[in-house]
Amino acid sequence: MAFPEFVRVAPELGLDRLFDYRIPEFLHGQIQLGQRLKVPWGRREILAYAVDFPRQPEVEKVRDVSAVAGERPLLPAGLCQLARWMADYYACDLAAALRTILPGPVRSHEGGGKMAWWIEPVAGREELAAKVLKGAKAQAKAWDYLKKSGGGWFTVLVRDSGIGTASWKALVDRGLAERSERRFMKAEEEPEAGWPDAGKKPELGEEQVAGMKSWEAERGKKGGGRPILLEGVTGSGKTEIYLRALEAVLAEGKTAVVLVPEISLTPQTVARFRGRLAGQRVRLCVLHSAQTTAERRESWHEIREGRARVVIGARSALFAPLENLGLIVVDEEHDGGYKQGESPRYHARDLAVVRGKIEGASVILGSATPSLESAYNADRERYLRVRLRKRVDGARLPKVQIVDLRKEEKPKTGGPVMLSAALRQALEERRKKGEQSLVLLNRRGYAPSVQCPHCGRVEECERCAVPMTYHRSDGRMKCHFCDAERPAPGVCPGCGSPQLKFTGAGTERLEEAVVEALPGVRWTRMDSDSMKARGAHGKALAAFREGRTDILLGTQMIAKGLHFPNVTCVGVVGVDAALSLPDFRASERVFQLLVQVAGRAGRGEIPGEVFVQTYTPFHPAIQFARHHDVDGFREQELEYRKAHGYPPFRRAILISFSGPSEAQTAASIRHTAERLRGLWKERVEVPEPSAAPIARVEGKYRFQLFLLVDKVPELMADLKREVLGPKWPVGMRAYVDVDAQDLL
Ligand code: ADP
Ligand code: ZN
Ligand code: ZN
Repeated sequence: MAFPEFVRVAPELGLDRLFDYRIPEFLHGQIQLGQRLKVPWGRREILAYAVDFPRQPEVEKVRDVSAVAGERPLLPAGLCQLARWMADYYACDLAAALRTILPGPVRSHEGGGKMAWWIEPVAGREELAAKVLKGAKAQAKAWDYLKKSGGGWFTVLVRDSGIGTASWKALVDRGLAERSERRFMKAEEEPEAGWPDAGKKPELGEEQVAGMKSWEAERGKKGGGRPILLEGVTGSGKTEIYLRALEAVLAEGKTAVVLVPEISLTPQTVARFRGRLAGQRVRLCVLHSAQTTAERRESWHEIREGRARVVIGARSALFAPLENLGLIVVDEEHDGGYKQGESPRYHARDLAVVRGKIEGASVILGSATPSLESAYNADRERYLRVRLRKRVDGARLPKVQIVDLRKEEKPKTGGPVMLSAALRQALEERRKKGEQSLVLLNRRGYAPSVQCPHCGRVEECERCAVPMTYHRSDGRMKCHFCDAERPAPGVCPGCGSPQLKFTGAGTERLEEAVVEALPGVRWTRMDSDSMKARGAHGKALAAFREGRTDILLGTQMIAKGLHFPNVTCVGVVGVDAALSLPDFRASERVFQLLVQVAGRAGRGEIPGEVFVQTYTPFHPAIQFARHHDVDGFREQELEYRKAHGYPPFRRAILISFSGPSEAQTAASIRHTAERLRGLWKERVEVPEPSAAPIARVEGKYRFQLFLLVDKVPELMADLKREVLGPKWPVGMRAYVDVDAQDLL
């Protein structure tokens, strides 16, 4: 095999541009992806990473690589390959993909971080310890402490044990403990007390055993086997399977990534993994968006240096620099949060499958309501479907009642129906019995629009073509698209009429209705407004778990991944708005949300009950959810998608233009569409561009071109050149979203 002749590198300081060099003969065969190199730079030499091996360099005159620096590449080779895949598939350049993979704190501060002492017991020194520590009480205590903890930061050991510094130093001097310098990280938080099965291992049920067998067999195949689609009803023990799979790969000395939706990254979830791993002395690293820059850098190095072998986190945790990867778990794989909203607009679930393939790692995608994309992949046997049909301990799925709001008596105040008689009664009963309830309304604020009944004026955002939401808690109108806000008007700014009408409902209005209907009830409202403070989310969940609140009401925040055995009633208030969104996935999303939230009821011994209030009781998403009929919904929905050529049958690419001038933006996107038509002829149908459903955001006019295509990569070069390449007028932005999820 011929060795590559050229290498493309990313300079260590700043990854904004890539440069090509020639590989001199004496370095042939020695440069791997991710390798750190010394390359000439003007009159100096700098450090850079090998990120690609182009067949031809981009410039004519290339200089030679000077040397290989250090034996370990900063970026594992697998991630370099992943970056290349991202750049090819998601229409971004390689530097942008690398920037996504290599977090800012690491790039800007390579090798930084405070150094500190790490103390570890030396294995096999028990006898010696027994001999030499006789009579040295404090040292003996320190030794016991160290053995139990398995090692720790010097300062943390001293602080937590209350044993003086001299004793620890003595252990090192006597050869019982070893001291090393490491980059300092904060001590791990203690596992949350009170989580019932932290560390305990239940015996697997029949379906779980069968599931584990299928997984073992599949991953034994070449390259880690196909991805597993673990399709199990809520509470069927999917997480238990993740844990077992995790244990299996760890026992082989491999590493693993567990992805969860950001919102499920609660202390409860983390504690469950931590509890189980503690038994194996495996360090778990949690990555989340609230981490400080320093914390992120520390985590990254901890992972890179192999000290943490399991990483759990949201979307971006997929890029954890682990080597020897054995398993990637994507929990709630259907969750929209896995798609990144800005460039590169990657989907972490799909990238998980790609990374698994690159590294020969097994991939488990789990959900009670898999995305149609994954389900279809399983139908075609690209993924292996493993099902858990029963809840653990035979708990029954809750009974779902549809409440037809058309038949409900309207409140005298003129507002919308918030709590139907049936739901109100059920909530009241639950409270009397000391059981708990959840009430979901996926919209924050008090009322999504304010209108004057006299002149018809609607309070709109000045910069976006949407009504502003009235937030009663602080008396302000807020735009949920650009965060603009202003005081709520007392009278109509148009005609001066004092009778403004609040239309529709958000969580604040629901809260008001609950408090009114159930005097003395203990409740918490959970949405991104009320849970802003750091730790508020965890605190609210703890209060609920300990039975200090009766009702948890809020947005989809309450729908995910929570396990509260005492919840026996779930109310869903208002799904109609979500059903009528101009998005082909609207039904799928509502169905998933309903099944997920219904799954929160009756996870203990007492059966649960769910109430869904709606004006469209016969909508298929609602009817199928009522019967927990995932297969039925899928079948019908796939038929509809097929008829229209929507994903998963074809791939959706959304091209968007936005700019300050409506005419200019419209003309630019039309021009682009025209050019693409010329290029592609009959190969791809290019429709007329149209105004986006939300036609203006932050003062910019938005237009879209929605493509349905069979294959993505072959179109990418054209799209990069025609959409991303041109210099558009000042203030105009154009982008390409492959496998678009957000069509608004
Ligand atoms: P899912 O992830 O499918 O919602 P979980 O794994 O969270 O389900 O399981 C639901 C509950 O059942 C958890 O409390 C879990 O500890 C428990 N559980 C899971 N598997 C078993 C089992 N085989 N035996 C007993 N309890 C189990
Ligand atoms: Zn008016
Ligand atoms: Zn706005």
